[in-house]
Amino acid sequence: MYAPGDVRVENRDVPAIVEPADAIIRVAAACICGSDLWRYRGIEQLTGPAPMGHEYVGVVEQLGSAVTTLRPGDFVVGSFFASDNTCEICRAGYQTHCVNRRPGAATGAQSQLLRVPLADGTLVATPGQPDADLVPSLLAASDVLGTGWFAAVAAEAGPGKTVAVVGDGAVGLLGVLAARQLGAERIIAMSRHADRQKLAREYGATDIVEERGDAGVARIKELTNGLGAHSVIEAVGTQESMMQAIRATRAGGHVGYVGVAHDVSLPGEELFFSGVHLHGGPAPVRRFLPELIQLIWDRAIDPGKVFDLTLPLDRAADGYRAMDERTAIKVLLQP
Ligand SMILES: [Zn+2]
Ligand SMILES: [Zn+2]
Repeated sequence: MYAPGDVRVENRDVPAIVEPADAIIRVAAACICGSDLWRYRGIEQLTGPAPMGHEYVGVVEQLGSAVTTLRPGDFVVGSFFASDNTCEICRAGYQTHCVNRRPGAATGAQSQLLRVPLADGTLVATPGQPDADLVPSLLAASDVLGTGWFAAVAAEAGPGKTVAVVGDGAVGLLGVLAARQLGAERIIAMSRHADRQKLAREYGATDIVEERGDAGVARIKELTNGLGAHSVIEAVGTQESMMQAIRATRAGGHVGYVGVAHDVSLPGEELFFSGVHLHGGPAPVRRFLPELIQLIWDRAIDPGKVFDLTLPLDRAADGYRAMDERTAIKVLLQP
């Protein structure tokens, strides 16, 4: 990405092993993230041309000498932060906060070849070579599914719970799927788009709320005996969506927030008196990858349905436009 709205596909140097823990993978599929749009729209600053993409699946082409868990030819799913998966923070399940993490490491995944640092900690091999129709779902596990899943876990979605989901992008929709898998009793999707409502219902939403802001909060309260939801997933990252999530949560309830926050500031006094739990941040996708890969492999879940547009990599610019204009929920790029 050269500048807001300016995406180009061009030849770059072929990545090589730099550190012994690195892997080079041949990308089988990549995609555009809702978080890429912050820069595309000029809301997040871009300093010079930046290689884009952090969601990927592919085949291991080359391994550094220190990598022990992978072999060339393995089909792998990676998380968007490189992590060692061995430090205390990783072992507690917070790999995105790994003491050795490489935040920018998996950038440039919208490409044919990708260098992944800390390969043992970051990449998980699938049980075998996947059928072609499983590839989009495995790709979803790399971020949007893992992120929606973390949001549902952070919001403590589970049996007997009413879960509300703020945001009808791919993460919000997969938050619905996750809440369903975790056994939530009732799932309220907040969306005003017919196609997204339809997918939300397919993924397990029992109710749809079209109102937003205070009107949306009022509607959630109406549906929950005036109390608010037990669990609320926040998957947008704006001031309005965050406050909508907090206000739609009952006292003692949990907000799982995963929309990358932009200019959000929380009013201390309102927070103090709300009595809600807040937990979120960049999802430790790596924690959930083994379980999610197995669910996909067994065809128990179909998160790949969020990809409603597939383009060859050289048309990436069209993919950004489609996501920016919201004509596509999520765009898969085929190198
Ligand atoms: Zn992403
Ligand atoms: Zn770690």
